[in-house]
Amino acid sequence: MARIDLVDLAHSYGGNDAPQETFALKPVTMTWRQGGAYALLGPSGCGKTTLLNVISGIITPSRGKILFDGVDITPLSTQKRNIAQVFQFPVIYDTMTVGQNLAFPLKNRGMPKAEIDKRVAEIGRLLDLEPHLNRKATRLTADAKQKISLGRGLVRSDVAAVLFDEPLTVIDPELKWQLRSKLKALHRELDLTMIYVTHDQTEALTFADTVVVMHDGRVVQSGTPAELFDKPAHTFVGYFIGSPGMNILAAEVKGREAKVGGHVIALNRAYDNLPSGAKIEIGVRPEFVEVVAPGPGLLTAKIDRIDDLGRIRFARVRVGDAKLAARAPAGFTSSDGNAGLKFDPAHIHVYADSLLVEGAA
Ligand code: ATP
Repeated sequence: MARIDLVDLAHSYGGNDAPQETFALKPVTMTWRQGGAYALLGPSGCGKTTLLNVISGIITPSRGKILFDGVDITPLSTQKRNIAQVFQFPVIYDTMTVGQNLAFPLKNRGMPKAEIDKRVAEIGRLLDLEPHLNRKATRLTADAKQKISLGRGLVRSDVAAVLFDEPLTVIDPELKWQLRSKLKALHRELDLTMIYVTHDQTEALTFADTVVVMHDGRVVQSGTPAELFDKPAHTFVGYFIGSPGMNILAAEVKGREAKVGGHVIALNRAYDNLPSGAKIEIGVRPEFVEVVAPGPGLLTAKIDRIDDLGRIRFARVRVGDAKLAARAPAGFTSSDGNAGLKFDPAHIHVYADSLLVEGAA
């Protein structure tokens, strides 16, 4: 396994001379820790597969370098990069047994038979494939075939990294959660650098220690699930992570106050140096806004509906044209559809042109 450094890496399918805002992968410099479990998360078309393919060598980047343990591997082919890949759909040999499929990447590299048998047995055990090792891989369910693909991706212990591209797409929904947790456990046992591409936040947050969020070709934040939740670096992260996502409201911000539609909301930090001309917004997660009876000093909202999620209820409300979600405490009702909103100042973030601004203490 290796540490992977991306240095000013960018890719354009339209050639190097295309304007940078059209790049499928906008310039990124970042490090992927040796042995880390990473998820590359973002909606369809944000550039995840492009970045993964640049790391694997399927695509030669328009710009920048990729280093594995400090060595520039940008010009190397996929084969020479010493990585394993698991794709959306199973890639297995039907004519071989399950065990032979798992052994294939090791045999290819000339590993002694005794060592191959040991490693295949270990991966078979970890993926619950033991009972099938001597069975032909044909006529297995799509789930079982994809498990073999996962096993083939994980069987080599000498790879720089294992790259997964939406590997649970074909898996039955009921089995998905099992395999997700299994992959996490496998990461702990096998000590491999893993990069897992998905558009599904639950998959990303269950699997990864570090989630790298992409939006419109850009890496907008890389952090632990808790960091993404508590301190979204970009309004997109706030909105995309969490269910419901973060509330985002246009505001005028000065010092320790935000004004929304003329109403003042207190902030915990001071914002005196916001860039002039920037679009200023505040972001607050629904968990940190409460609907209460309307009253003096409270922002007034119209309630559209209340969603009861069992352990928590969220009111869906409107403030002018803006739609928000807010926690509805037990016993809360509104006879006329109006409510007051109580914000927790410790959890209000300020954004300038969608980027988080650190206020002063
Ligand atoms: P998905 O989950 O749908 O695969 P993604 O996040 O992996 O999406 P990419 O496949 O990397 O996104 O695509 C990023 C952008 O690059 C998109 O606008 C896409 O249309 C474009 N793109 C991808 N592959 C090519 C290609 N071979 N030629 C031209 N444009 C491409």
